This record gives sequence, structure tokens and C-alpha cells, in this order.
Amino acid sequence: MEPKIIFLGTGGDAIVVGKHFRSAGGIILQVQDFQFHIDPGPGALSMAKNFEVSLRNNTAVLVSHNHLNHCNDINAVISAMTYSGLDKLGVLIGNTTLFDGAEGVQSMLIPPFNQFPERNILLTPGKKVGIEDIEITALKAEHTDPNTIGFYFRTPTFTLAYSSDTKFKKEIAEGYTGVDVLVLNVPYPSGEKADQLGTRDVIKIIEISRPKLAIITHFGIKMLKADPLNEARVIQRETNVQTIAAKDGMQINPITFASRIRQMTLKQFAE
Ligand SMILES: [Zn+2]
Repeated sequence: MEPKIIFLGTGGDAIVVGKHFRSAGGIILQVQDFQFHIDPGPGALSMAKNFEVSLRNNTAVLVSHNHLNHCNDINAVISAMTYSGLDKLGVLIGNTTLFDGAEGVQSMLIPPFNQFPERNILLTPGKKVGIEDIEITALKAEHTDPNTIGFYFRTPTFTLAYSSDTKFKKEIAEGYTGVDVLVLNVPYPSGEKADQLGTRDVIKIIEISRPKLAIITHFGIKMLKADPLNEARVIQRETNVQTIAAKDGMQINPITFASRIRQMTLKQFAE
């Protein structure tokens, strides 16, 4: 099976997701016989059906932090994976807040669904988990869930890093150094003073980490109005790194991305 990244959602704030301008069903990474489902927010089940992804095939579901747009559908996805606990299978990987809550914050993961996966793994920055020959390392992030983590996947054929929600910090950007595909959550366009990433931050991150391909996603309403395609073009022009704006349902092969993405970008710009 060819490796694939499938975006089940690209929405990143309460307006965009609440009005369903974009879904927030998360990101699917298929590699070898494994399927990873990252940040299953609202819409995970319906978007999986629309784009012919069987959640039953999830090897692991990963939650970067305990915010609604990232894990609202975690219980439903675990139920789909395990036939509501009939088959105890799959791995749940999450941050501290997902498993333990935080002060004044309840976890979105509720019993009995937390007992249905075969293994539950709590990751903090720097900690790793291996699934066959795929290694996943938790990355630093700085966000309103203080335990937020990103993910760095090392597979035999490519690497992929996912920032999750974070502010810009040099040491966080350095954590992505040398990655092939860098997926960044960018709710804001240029010129926004932001508690999360905006276009200017993305340019700084790419200049530090130099990925082969950058994908921006997790758009807020101001980003949609600015048009993510324009922002991606600005980023690519300033960094000389191929950059694309994700769309709901977008699928790419992370290995052969170079030629395909060039075509896809041209098509999108021609719309
Ligand atoms: Zn968040």
C-alpha cells in the first residue's frame, strides 16, 4: 500500500468548525499496513466515511491535547476501532491532560472508552513510542493546554512532523529540523498578533527547520478570509520550500509529493 496523508478536517477555530466551513476530523497517516489517526475533532466519523477511510483500521489514535477541535470525537473513534470494546485493539496515544485532566479541566476521554484500546500510552515531550518499525516522538508545543505535544513520525521511507497548536519558539522550531513533511497548525494569516501560529511564524519555522514540504492546516476564520492558498504562496515565495494549504479530503503521497503537489497547487491556483 502506498503511504498517504488524508486530511479529514482543516478547521481550526470555533467559528470555522462550529459553522462547519471546514471539518475538524483530524489527519490520517497510512504507512505500510498501519493507520494513524491524529486529533479526531468534530466530524471524524462522517469525514472518514466520505473519504473512504475505515476507522476500524486505525492502528493508533493520537491526541495532541485536550481541546474540542482535537479530540471531541475520541470516544466515538475508539468505539469504531474496537466495535465498542468487543475487540480490545489499537493504541491510544495522548498527552497528560487527555489521560489525567488538568486543574479545572476534565478530560474529553470518558470511561469505558478509555479501557477499549489494547494499550494507552501517555507521551510528554521527548518521549518515544515504537510501533513495529515506525517511531513516534512527542514534540514540544506551547499552548493553552499546557501539556500540548506535537508528533514526529519516523518511518522507513519518510519522516513527518505535526506541530499541533503552538506559539512560535525557536526551540520548538528546531525540533522539526530535517523532517521531510512538516504539518503546521496555522489559524492566523499574516499580520495577526496571535497566541498561535500565523503566516510570519511559519516562515520563521521553515527557515529554521527546512522541511522538504510544508503543509498548513487548522485554519481560523481570519485565515479563511485571507485565503490559505494565498498565505501558502507567500510562505513558499519567501522560504523557497514547497508549501501547500490543506483542504478537507486532500490526500497526498508523502514520498512522491514533489511532482503531484506541483500539479495540485497549480490546479488550486487556477480555480
Ligand atoms: Zn488547542
